[in-house]
Amino acid sequence: METYEVGLVPGPISVPSELRAIFQIDYGSSDLEAEFFTLYEKCESYLGEILATRNRVAIQSGEGMLALWSGLKSVLRPGDKVLAVANGVFGYGLGDMARQLGMEVEVVGFGYDDVPEPQQVREVALTFGPRLVTAVHCETPSGTLAPLKEIGEICREIEALFYVDFVSSGGGVEVRVDDWFIDLGLLGSQKVLSLPPDLAIVTVSERAWSAVEEIGYFGYDALAPWRGGIDDQRLPYTHNWHAMAGLHLATKMILQEGLSAVFSRHARVAAYCRSRLKEMGVELFPLKEEFCSPTVTAAKVPEAWSWPDLDKALRERRMVVGGSYGPLAGKVFRLGHMGNQARQELVEKGMNILQEVLGRGN
Ligand SMILES: *Cc1c(COP(=O)(O)O)cnc(C)c1O
Repeated sequence: METYEVGLVPGPISVPSELRAIFQIDYGSSDLEAEFFTLYEKCESYLGEILATRNRVAIQSGEGMLALWSGLKSVLRPGDKVLAVANGVFGYGLGDMARQLGMEVEVVGFGYDDVPEPQQVREVALTFGPRLVTAVHCETPSGTLAPLKEIGEICREIEALFYVDFVSSGGGVEVRVDDWFIDLGLLGSQKVLSLPPDLAIVTVSERAWSAVEEIGYFGYDALAPWRGGIDDQRLPYTHNWHAMAGLHLATKMILQEGLSAVFSRHARVAAYCRSRLKEMGVELFPLKEEFCSPTVTAAKVPEAWSWPDLDKALRERRMVVGGSYGPLAGKVFRLGHMGNQARQELVEKGMNILQEVLGRGN
């Protein structure tokens, strides 16, 4: 397997050695040992602190996408109205997913280099009357971070459930699940938490649990068993103890560093990354710098370059970054500075290599 000295892919993130070590331990059966359930409850409580919520947290075996499907399928039935607030690949994609599940979907759309405008969302929401509103905090493929509180308030006003994908921001940026009225908050282990892609995490509010009960969905990715399953020590399948132990340490490390220190480390490294890019004459992708996420920076592939050539030149220097998807494929490249990659010296090394590569020309 090829390894890189400077890894700046925006997920999966490089796993630090202290977390990697956990995967060497020979754990017992998560079905039989009470210790596993204690570990789960600790993870739930640490995640609650990081995400500012008192809600129960469903931690399922799987990765980020499982959380996205799980949330939709557990609280909706075909024909239900879903409003997708979209300003990027995941936002529009969630609308497509809901449509594929048979929901009646309306999209309130914004540009990929923009963030949602709450008043526009409110107008559509009032006339459409959705049962659930989807939104994405950090649009990883385009590097934007959307304000959510006002959209959460709109959801309360119209009594819709608020479903938020914060897979690539949670833990690195302030996310306030309870204050922002988030009923279903989605996270994966392979982004800011810097673990392998093993866990799908969903914060579930009381309102959302009521919907889960009403819908009664019981597939592999169903949320229902996670409401009482921990207290009853009865889970729907053998859980991934290694990943749960990794999650325990990863969340503990975040809290030990201190949430505000972690958030400002991300903000600082991101600002540094953007200023180096601008110095090199590389254009940032989001329209305005205040829309840029502290966890990932998206920039335009310089005109003299094609994305495959730039990718190849960086890899030859043992550096790897991300391309993009959808309408941005080939036009935008991305630097992931979240979790273990939100380190000044790593991003500085990366920026030096990029400067050298661009300076030499294609
Ligand atoms: C990474 C990511 C996901 C989950 O995708 P995976 O296939 O699990 O990596 C979902 N939403 C966003 C915004 C993401 O960045």
